[in-house]
Amino acid sequence: MDLGISGKLAVVCASSKGLGRGCALALAEAGVDLVLNARGAEALENTAQEIRVRYNVNVQTVAADITTQDGQDSVLDAAGMPDILVNNAGGPPPGMWSDWQRDDFLAALDANMLTPIALMTRVLPSMIEKKWGRVVNITSQSVKAPIAVLGLSNSARAGLTGYVAGTARQVAPHGVNINNLLPGVHATDRIAFLDQSVADSEGKPIEEIASERAASIPTGTYGSAADFGAACAFLCSQQAKFMVGQNILLDGGAINATL
Ligand code: NAP
Repeated sequence: MDLGISGKLAVVCASSKGLGRGCALALAEAGVDLVLNARGAEALENTAQEIRVRYNVNVQTVAADITTQDGQDSVLDAAGMPDILVNNAGGPPPGMWSDWQRDDFLAALDANMLTPIALMTRVLPSMIEKKWGRVVNITSQSVKAPIAVLGLSNSARAGLTGYVAGTARQVAPHGVNINNLLPGVHATDRIAFLDQSVADSEGKPIEEIASERAASIPTGTYGSAADFGAACAFLCSQQAKFMVGQNILLDGGAINATL
């Protein structure tokens, strides 16, 4: 399918690895020029170079912490007026409700709620002016079904989801579509880290933890960043113009719910 977005410009935050990288690759395959971001410059440049060679699109890199004002300024200075924004950042650490203090919540809110809101606030005016824009926020399956040890994530992402629910409807009349993608378990460094935490606490090998977890998902597998990226590219397509404020779950059927 031709997604109709060749020649558009996308900012993909937190995209040197994992799900952000998957989104960047899929957008590049659709002919989209990119501004990629991550804190670590080496992995970021490696991803950028791989995309340039494979897809022959323009790729700029901005090595910065997207949760800081400086990081947001540098990314948007590089991009100018992007047509597409993919919001992403690292997820908060696991823990117990009794571990979390005000500063832990502020860090989680900054990364997973206030940063995407700040970036949307800055790019939406030019999208509205151009009468075309797409924003995809990478959130989590925890929006639909809480993951107890990820209480910081549950809290911050619920806030972002509420913001998007209203804002998406305010900008939709201007040809700007905002939607959220909710990853279930995908094979990335983040999931390897979380599996390792469980393996350490249960004194089991990580392979056993991963295979038990995969078996608990109806597909029997973890998701792939490439498939996740393809869903993101679709949400950024011309054909997604009637999708507004949706929360799209990609979880292999793990959440047992009718709707
Ligand atoms: P990942 O494999 O650990 O990759 C994270 C990427 O984000 C890396 O490129 C990392 O590069 C970059 N990054 C992290 N913090 C950043 C920051 N402050 N500023 C700029 N770049 C940053 O993680 P992932 O699995 O793709 O997860 C992406 C998001 O989806 C996270 O919020 C995660 O909680 C959420 N999620 C993932 C899953 C899953 O199954 N993978 C499930 C539910 C939710 P640097 O470290 O160099 O900055």
